[in-house]
Amino acid sequence: MTAQRTRAVHAGREDLVDLGVHAVPLDLSTTYPSRDSRGEAARLDVLGTGAQDCGPPVYGRVGNPTVARFERALAELEGCEAGVAFASGMAALSACLLAGVAAGRPHVVAIRPLYGTSDFLLGSGLLGTSVTWVAPDDVRAALRPDTGLVVVESPANPTLAEVDLRALADACGDVPLLVDNTFATPVLQRPVEHGAAIVLHSATKYLGGHGDVLGGIVACREDYARSLRQIRFATGAVLHPLSGYLLLRGLPTLPLRMHAASATAASLAARLAGHPGVTRVHYPRGLAGQMTSGGALVSIEVAGDPHEVIAAVRLFTPAVSLGSVDSLIQHPGSLSHHVLGEEALAEIGISEKLLRLSIGLEDVDDLWDDLDRALR
Ligand code: PLP
Repeated sequence: MTAQRTRAVHAGREDLVDLGVHAVPLDLSTTYPSRDSRGEAARLDVLGTGAQDCGPPVYGRVGNPTVARFERALAELEGCEAGVAFASGMAALSACLLAGVAAGRPHVVAIRPLYGTSDFLLGSGLLGTSVTWVAPDDVRAALRPDTGLVVVESPANPTLAEVDLRALADACGDVPLLVDNTFATPVLQRPVEHGAAIVLHSATKYLGGHGDVLGGIVACREDYARSLRQIRFATGAVLHPLSGYLLLRGLPTLPLRMHAASATAASLAARLAGHPGVTRVHYPRGLAGQMTSGGALVSIEVAGDPHEVIAAVRLFTPAVSLGSVDSLIQHPGSLSHHVLGEEALAEIGISEKLLRLSIGLEDVDDLWDDLDRALR
């Protein structure tokens, strides 16, 4: 079996030698000229069902060759049949929710915590879904005949809580389990190997890796991918081809970035546990066999004012988001989870004292010096 490092370099690029090019071709066309409009009508009949591979593209919203390469590459890395890319991670989640609504199963069972806006989208019912929030052990009891999806993040944003995906998948029975794998990436965790049916990413984070692309992607079976493509075709939240290009450019270094940043994060998590300015460190312990390392995020609860820490760092970038080459620090209560409001945050167990650190590729001692000084 090909190693993940090799796949990351070559996936989505299999035909480049035969094409006689080295860099991935970037196709910015919004439309695809043809003198055969009967043939185009026939292809649209096929593409409108969400099926693919029926000839040249017709229109940019229906399909794009550069984006299709990124979709193939990520599907291969996740060990799935298909990938469907979107304009953002939230657009990807929206399509999954709409697929449930369209299939007459609008009820969702979800495990907290989730990324703030994902929690808000589910809780608000904006897309016609309803949600039952449960602990992992209570998923089976919460399933109903109209449940279309079970949603979990592991590790979760922002507490890095881990859920046993195999046990959860067993509890889901026939209901598809959607795992948001943004934090682990397919380098550290492949949810389908633990029974998940659907893997979702905010590609904005580690897949892009340089803080300059907004995107989302779902890896899944081809039959589910068809329903997502049909929704994307009709609702229009497509990934821009330049973003597809940049995401493909990020993938070859994904394993190296993840391993390096994870090693630094594990070292910082251990040091932070002994820091007088830190009352609690959240870092994945690694459920047996699920993740190959703890990942590149560390969350801490601080003794002092978290806003003062944000203001005091000089090497860390004080910004929301994560997964870039530079280290980022943010206050979930003010940014990533602010939309939920103080009451819900307290209920979910997201402390006002919590800071989330996304560790990048800088030297570990330089990062430590910056944190140590800011925490004092
Ligand atoms: N899922 C997780 C775990 C996230 O952290 C985020 C964004 O921070 C999203 C989904 C949403 O992704 P996007 O910002 O690309 O819409």
